[in-house]
Amino acid sequence: MAKEKILIVEDEEDIQELIRYNLEKEGFRNLQVVDSGEGALEALKTFSPDLILLDLMLPGMDGLALCRQLKSVPDTAAIPIIMLTAKSEETDIIIGLEMGADDYIAKPFSNKVLVARIRSVLRRRKQSLADDGAGILKRGGLVMNRGKREVALNGSSITMTFSEFEILYMLARRPGWVFTRNQIVNEVKGDDYPVTERAIDVQIVGLRKKLKGSEDMIETVRGVGYRFKND
Ligand code: CA
Repeated sequence: MAKEKILIVEDEEDIQELIRYNLEKEGFRNLQVVDSGEGALEALKTFSPDLILLDLMLPGMDGLALCRQLKSVPDTAAIPIIMLTAKSEETDIIIGLEMGADDYIAKPFSNKVLVARIRSVLRRRKQSLADDGAGILKRGGLVMNRGKREVALNGSSITMTFSEFEILYMLARRPGWVFTRNQIVNEVKGDDYPVTERAIDVQIVGLRKKLKGSEDMIETVRGVGYRFKND
């Protein structure tokens, strides 16, 4: 049985029930369901979840406003958030990811996708905490040493520019995690070194060439950004 605690913020009763039923079936028993952003803030006074499933369209305080508030408070900033969105809410998805939400699931979703995304976010969270201590990233045949700025793929070293290294490291640190172009820009740019979103696309093309044979490690998430393949 999974011990992780999950807070579900969803105002539609049938979706609440669907989520609860499927998560309980998968062994997640520590669930709390609320139907508003205000309700979530109240619940968080006594319930400290490992993950929040957050519907964006809520009465009263909407999901993005709640996300912004949670990410701005140290006590709740580290709790992973998966947004539940309609397909048409692409702009909101991007805003949410930039605020620090970890992933999103577009409605209508299958039970399989729901459970897989939840497990993936919980697993990634553990993994990224472990990597931060080591300084060396290993992802399949890819090895990155940030201290020495060395990259090897299947045993052969690859020469990368500063930006290419930073972009690949950022993506590979959190496999499966979607990063928007704007997030990547903010990560790689120096103080006096302007980078545009278009330039990120160009860098990705260059990176994929250097990862020849394994270029599918970097996946394009249409309309949103990029992510490192999650095995
Ligand atoms: Ca809703």
